[in-house]
Amino acid sequence: MDPNATLAAPIADVLGRPLHDLRISVTDRCNFRCTYCMPKEIFGADFAFLPRSEVLTFEEIERVARVFVGLGVEKLRLTGGEPLVRRDLPILVEKLASIRRPGGGPLDLTMTTNGSALRKLAAPLAAAGLGRVTISLDSLDDAVFSAMNGVDFPVAKVLDGIAAAQEAGLGPIKVNMVVRRGINESSVVPMARWARGAGVTLRFIEFMDVGHTNGWRMDEVVGADELVAMVDAEMPVEAEPPRYRGEVATRFRYRDGVGEVGVIASVTKPFCGDCTRARLSAEGRFYTCLFTGDGHDLRAVLRDPVLADPAANDAALRDTVASIWRVRDDRYSEERTEATSSSLPRLEMFAMGG
Ligand code: SAM
Repeated sequence: MDPNATLAAPIADVLGRPLHDLRISVTDRCNFRCTYCMPKEIFGADFAFLPRSEVLTFEEIERVARVFVGLGVEKLRLTGGEPLVRRDLPILVEKLASIRRPGGGPLDLTMTTNGSALRKLAAPLAAAGLGRVTISLDSLDDAVFSAMNGVDFPVAKVLDGIAAAQEAGLGPIKVNMVVRRGINESSVVPMARWARGAGVTLRFIEFMDVGHTNGWRMDEVVGADELVAMVDAEMPVEAEPPRYRGEVATRFRYRDGVGEVGVIASVTKPFCGDCTRARLSAEGRFYTCLFTGDGHDLRAVLRDPVLADPAANDAALRDTVASIWRVRDDRYSEERTEATSSSLPRLEMFAMGG
């Protein structure tokens, strides 16, 4: 067996859901101020982001990732905040790319990014071992996109970032588009048409009630059925079966055989029953659901002076993670109502890691 492989065994929660994916937030900072995520009226110049000392180091992230891989994780997704604003990110990617699954196989190592710095970073990230990227883009119309990203960021620069990712071999590339009623539905069909031509896979995301600052209302959600009908009317599609348990997007294939489109329907068709995702925030808190305010402090274990011996520390981390996952019973999206949406404590998505 590969000496690098991580030892332990796969685990499942009380609903039988295995621990398959880990989303790692490398920073709570972002250079965008998307209205649905970090509205600039709240997250302005005086907002206190995490001080550096509270953010996990690359070595700490690698150690946590190895423990999760030992417990069954096969896919790591770097996210944030905006992951590309974290300095020296290729160094972290290189560390994570060296991790092997217990059987010796490689991980699926990917990243979600707004694409703003990919022209500069796509090639170094690919060279460091990043497998692929998902890029967020909510419209091809500059007026609409600027209004949504909150910082007048031009569409052309994101498209250039996508091109850079393609040139660097970071495919298959997915593009995430959050759709908010009254704001960017007019961009749905143009984005679908463009994505097919550009050889990228578009995923519509229903506007979600993450956090408490984005003014979420059910009537601003454009549901999956409506989104698919809009595309189907112009470019006919048919449903595709999921490829694996826990696949986030419901997929549709264009009937002419050119490409596919997907919908992440967390609001109208919740998929908690198959949720195999864990999240690690930038300061090392472990979350078992995107819609929770309750995280578990792994940094305290990592930095515990009583556990200075790395082997003892790894064992403590593994026991902590396993014992939390084994009692996991979260299924927020299936239980969501307008009332729970405003009353339950929840963390902002940029803070937890999207
Ligand atoms: N900064 C990176 C980016 O823009 O992709 C990664 C972090 S971001 C929080 C991850 C994804 O969450 C993005 O695709 C973003 O559009 C999506 N997102 C953020 N807030 C959302 C919301 N309220 N509803 C649906 N999707 C949301």
